[in-house]
Amino acid sequence: MLALVTGASRGIGRAIALELGRNGFDVAVNYNRSSEQADSLCAELKAMGVNAGAFQADVSVQEDVTRLFTEIKASMGAVSILVNNAGITRDNLLMRMKPEDWQAVINANLNSCFYCTQAAIRDMAKARYGRIINIASVVGLTGNAGQANYAASKAGIIGFTKSAAREYAARGITANAIAPGFIDTDMTGILKPEVKDAIMKSIPIGKMGSPEDVAKAVLFFAREESSYITGQVLAVDGGMTMC
Ligand code: NAP
Repeated sequence: MLALVTGASRGIGRAIALELGRNGFDVAVNYNRSSEQADSLCAELKAMGVNAGAFQADVSVQEDVTRLFTEIKASMGAVSILVNNAGITRDNLLMRMKPEDWQAVINANLNSCFYCTQAAIRDMAKARYGRIINIASVVGLTGNAGQANYAASKAGIIGFTKSAAREYAARGITANAIAPGFIDTDMTGILKPEVKDAIMKSIPIGKMGSPEDVAKAVLFFAREESSYITGQVLAVDGGMTMC
């Protein structure tokens, strides 16, 4: 069964691709700019005996997504598990946020989910089987000062996930979201030490999560056995939100 992971060249996406590969899925690795990292991930997957391929596409651009799915179908077949993971931040206080930073984050985080899900859903519906797993964020549930664009995109992903879950439940397709908390990747690596310290104080478990923590939750939703779970939001956050 083929899984597509968007934004799989680094961080959480990379860990998801490895976890799915380790557990018997074929893996299409999408990346935008990090071609060397995507190639080396693919080589690692192939060395594990996984059928894997790397595919460049900027998933914030619909034409790229159309090309991505055409290329994947031609070389690896139809996508059964779609993991919408690609995402960016462009943080700033609302008063100072440039419209282009608002738009870039909505395009990369939210519009990409719409483009990829729409591109994947026809084959899933035909097969009467599919798994859509969207990587949201705890800030999509709670909001966050300095992240109005990012929080809006992640809250949008949650509403999108629940709508897709309702539309396709009768066709064997589940749609679920994961809301990671504070995970150790390049995205959080750029935060100032005082910001990191403040976030750490809000985590009952008392440490950052790893990309693998998120990947395990993705594997749970991806499995055939999870067929009675849809429209859910699972926080992987060390107890940060508990809502
Ligand atoms: P990251 O380390 O910055 O990696 C981001 C990945 O997304 C890269 O592989 C990048 O690919 C890809 N990407 C970005 N824009 C893309 C586009 N337009 N088209 C295709 N790929 C694109 O981030 P991360 O921490 O792993 O985050 C992964 C997901 O988890 C994101 O949706 C993020 O919002 C979410 N999340 C992260 C945290 C956290 O604490 N880290 C918390 C909550 C949610 P290239 O390098 O090839 O451009």
